[in-house]
Amino acid sequence: MKIRNPRTGHLDFSLRVVSHDEVAQLVSQLRSSQPQWWQLGMAGRVKVMHNFSEQLVAHREALIAAVAEDTGRWAESELEVDVTINTIHRWCKDAPELLAEAPPRKAHLPFLEIQPSYLPFDVVGVISPWNFPLLLSLVDAIPALLAGCSVIIKPSEVTSRFVAPLQEVIKSTPELSSVLKLVTGAGETGQAVIQHVDTLCFTGSVATGRRVGELCAQQFIPAFLELGGKDAAIVCDDADIEVASSALCWGSMVNAGQSCMSLERIYVHENIADEFISRLVEKVKKLRHNYPDIKVGEIGPVISDKQVAVILQQLDDALQKGARALCGGHLLQLGGGFYCEPTVLDQVNKDMLIVTEETFAAIVVVQRVQSNEEAVQLANDSKYGLSAAVFSQDMANAYQIAAALKAGGISINDASLTGFVHEAEKQSFQCSGMGGSRMGAESIRRFIRKKSFIRNTGVASPWWFKA
Ligand code: NAD
Repeated sequence: MKIRNPRTGHLDFSLRVVSHDEVAQLVSQLRSSQPQWWQLGMAGRVKVMHNFSEQLVAHREALIAAVAEDTGRWAESELEVDVTINTIHRWCKDAPELLAEAPPRKAHLPFLEIQPSYLPFDVVGVISPWNFPLLLSLVDAIPALLAGCSVIIKPSEVTSRFVAPLQEVIKSTPELSSVLKLVTGAGETGQAVIQHVDTLCFTGSVATGRRVGELCAQQFIPAFLELGGKDAAIVCDDADIEVASSALCWGSMVNAGQSCMSLERIYVHENIADEFISRLVEKVKKLRHNYPDIKVGEIGPVISDKQVAVILQQLDDALQKGARALCGGHLLQLGGGFYCEPTVLDQVNKDMLIVTEETFAAIVVVQRVQSNEEAVQLANDSKYGLSAAVFSQDMANAYQIAAALKAGGISINDASLTGFVHEAEKQSFQCSGMGGSRMGAESIRRFIRKKSFIRNTGVASPWWFKA
């Protein structure tokens, strides 16, 4: 399978499509290696994962270069590798306490004693998207490995150049190579993974997530689905306009808007709308494309060519229906890559795709509202519910709005904080996902099955037959 380079447009990467039989064979190897990995104990697994992070540091440059080839942007590729390494450190610190077995305790029936225990799933499958290819391939794999599972990862076919250097890193951590495998390919390889694993972590679009959820139901395995969003920000009339405009410029444009928690809709109170919009536009206008120098500028190319058609359709639909581009409004072709002009649109309404559908580009829409209630009603009028943001200097007001929003991670006076505060548990609402929190203590517990050993301490149970 030939894969397009997002900067040059050339089909310069040959993706090996791993077959169903190969997936079956690899999962069978992973299944037989898992008991030894589990028996190593938490301390042993933590040691191996520390070695893994050291090897990632040693291969940092090669990994950054490969992720940058995959995605066409540099600064975020550096960040991805560094965040992945930090994620391992954080989990190595937290996992022992989070999975420590509790001491035995008396049951409500005083002659019975409960000893809690757990068993990890044997093989966890991970299927990941193209917007943060390395990080989103490992974000669930790391806690799953520490919990004692073995893991098979199927990254996006759009961005699999990083797989070869990552496999080198895994090879240089011998204890890991028998319990962590990567397979390349598209949807069919993903389906093969689902057919053989014991639980699945999927990150991707709502459309594929639905299909994946159905396949997991057929296999009778749990599915943790982290899907798309159309995140809303509410800017109240008492907001600090400087803070709100800087945070939302970053939160809507970072990674060229190709982030699930990108803030794509802004509802601003009419009393401050003129000033807020003019400062936002001023800041967005200053952003530059990472072209021709990948290391200069803030806005990279559109990574997936399929997304190009989505962006063009949404822009065209909005502009035809009366939306006004306060800046940007076009998709440019530079050196074979597609780059979205950093765009702020106003005069938008919910008849436009750009207001209702995920855009996944450096485009944000702004609507003026007359009250906080109207802002909440418009923000919640969506099939999605991933994250959101509220800007107000009155904390009681900010928390009241946050509580009313149908979304999991709500940032207050900042944007997309769920990406930085890993201990904050949250779930996706509505079509944005399903299953336990990827963040916080609950995250690692998705990979274990709880058990209880219930002991009679030496009393004849009162429900036994008396005869
Ligand atoms: P996608 O749904 O097209 O693909 C995701 C993965 O699923 C890919 O690896 C793909 O090969 C695989 N796949 C496709 N069909 C499959 C099938 N039938 N069975 C099994 N696997 C299959 O998503 P994408 O375009 O790669 O990624 C962008 C989407 O991901 C956006 O909607 C974005 O919001 C979402 N996303 C969500 C989060 C989150 O945490 N909620 C994070 C990042 C991205």
